[in-house]
Amino acid sequence: MNKKPEIRSLDGANMDIDLVTPQDKIGWTQDPCPWNEADGTMEHRCAVKNVSICPYFCGIKFTDNVLCCYPTENPYHKA
Ligand code: SF4
Repeated sequence: MNKKPEIRSLDGANMDIDLVTPQDKIGWTQDPCPWNEADGTMEHRCAVKNVSICPYFCGIKFTDNVLCCYPTENPYHKA
């Protein structure tokens, strides 16, 4: 029987996450950002290293799913 691993929640990660990579530059399918779709742009990013985290970003689900609450801001978002 496998022992359930302890999962730690560690604050302060310096993340760089987006859904704006052109499809011809990656070998997997990437869902579009709903905010970019609504604004007709490619400028919104989930997390930008050393700079910002999108107000609609709600985390990551293993392995690489962005949890997004657009168009309602994440109430836990820190400006
Ligand atoms: S968190 Fe959602 S709205 Fe914000 S950049 Fe990522 S996909 Fe777009």
